[in-house]
Amino acid sequence: MDDDGAAPNGERVPSAVGSGPAGPLTVAALASWRAVLGEVDRAVTDAERVDLLRALEELKSAACAAQARISVDLDASQRAEQARAGVPLARRGAGVGAQVALARRESPHRGGRLLGLAKALVVEMPHTYRALQAGLLSEWRATLIVRESACLSVEDRTAFDAELAADPGQLDGLGDGQLLARAKKVAYRLDAASVVRRARKAESERCVSLRPAPDTMSYLTGLLPVAQGVAVLAALTKAADSARAQGDQRSRGQVMADTLVERVTGQESADAVPVEVQLVMTDRTLLAGDDEPATIPGYGTVPAGWASRLVARRLGAPGLEGVGRATQVWLRRLFTSPSTGQLARMDSRRRTVPPGLARFIATRDQTCRTPWCDAPVRHADHIVPWSEGGRTEADGLEGYCEACNYAKQAPGWRTRAGPSGGEDGHVVETTSPTGHRYRSRAPALPGHHSPDEGERDSSPAERYLLDLHRVA
Ligand SMILES: [Zn+2]
Repeated sequence: MDDDGAAPNGERVPSAVGSGPAGPLTVAALASWRAVLGEVDRAVTDAERVDLLRALEELKSAACAAQARISVDLDASQRAEQARAGVPLARRGAGVGAQVALARRESPHRGGRLLGLAKALVVEMPHTYRALQAGLLSEWRATLIVRESACLSVEDRTAFDAELAADPGQLDGLGDGQLLARAKKVAYRLDAASVVRRARKAESERCVSLRPAPDTMSYLTGLLPVAQGVAVLAALTKAADSARAQGDQRSRGQVMADTLVERVTGQESADAVPVEVQLVMTDRTLLAGDDEPATIPGYGTVPAGWASRLVARRLGAPGLEGVGRATQVWLRRLFTSPSTGQLARMDSRRRTVPPGLARFIATRDQTCRTPWCDAPVRHADHIVPWSEGGRTEADGLEGYCEACNYAKQAPGWRTRAGPSGGEDGHVVETTSPTGHRYRSRAPALPGHHSPDEGERDSSPAERYLLDLHRVA
């Protein structure tokens, strides 16, 4: 039940906090601490080892508290600067979460959440913040507490903070689940109406996402209001029951999965052709049985044999009757060598990005070009704004997700194409308002080998983007 710290905590006195190395918190001071951490004394007793484990955990929490304080200061200062630059009040604060994310090597989405957490802790929840600073709460557990207070008014949140964390000893030894239960109880008592508001807010966050699972499978996840989720499952269960009553040999789970695919895509059989799937692969994988893996935009890497079988099936190969007959496969040559190619050189004087080029960018970049952002590409954006002479050609464009495209429009952000692409692929350098520079490199597509991988074949691979379409 509670395997994370029921041990008595009495021997550690919070007043020990603050007796660290003298001097202000600077990058240089932290670097010397890191050097100390790199020299673990192996000649200590086990009791000392256990004390060290605890002290290091507390140091991590204290570091998170310091990051929260610093993030809040950065936010205030950046907002003030944006105000001076004439940014209207409603749009101030744009891009600050992105700066926190880049600095912390997190996705922009998570950067925004971390900044929100920091503001709640530092500004509105001083007791929880102090518990984090004293090492009595981890950043994750502080996040759980803040999340439970999300829908409370500022006054209620203050009361919630005091009741829950004014005496952090009360939280000692509680598992995450127990901590959550206690936080919920306090929040509900303070404001029952907030539970309703909260449910409404949660409903607004409904969404569907896809992520890779092992063995070329994928998890399709729908975050739905509970009634809808139950209804979807009930409908699939019913379909499985009736199919099996009629002698269907598939398992319940298989019928449910097939039915989900059929009803969502509108196709007659789950095994038929998807409405649209894209594959990026080399000519050698496609035609010569090479083992160079292929890529599915929006999913990731798939084994070579699997990819060529998929194409064969979609083409209605003999022996697979009924499958893929009504399929068209479009082959598009992406580029003939890592550094050249028609599409890559395609130049356009127009401001908007033509669909073929946008597709090329989405395929080349695969995910948003902001470092540490995994979101799918939604915009092909000019690296140098079109109004400042940016060109509508592949080298002048980068793929962005919706949120990053917006964050980059805040004042003070600059991007430029990195040093010549070539074998290194397409490089973009982004400069944040504080002058920090971050580099993003387009991922290696099939057919690209780093020199240390050795020479597979002296002839350059041709890369294809295959569009598998169902003919209407
Ligand atoms: Zn992004």
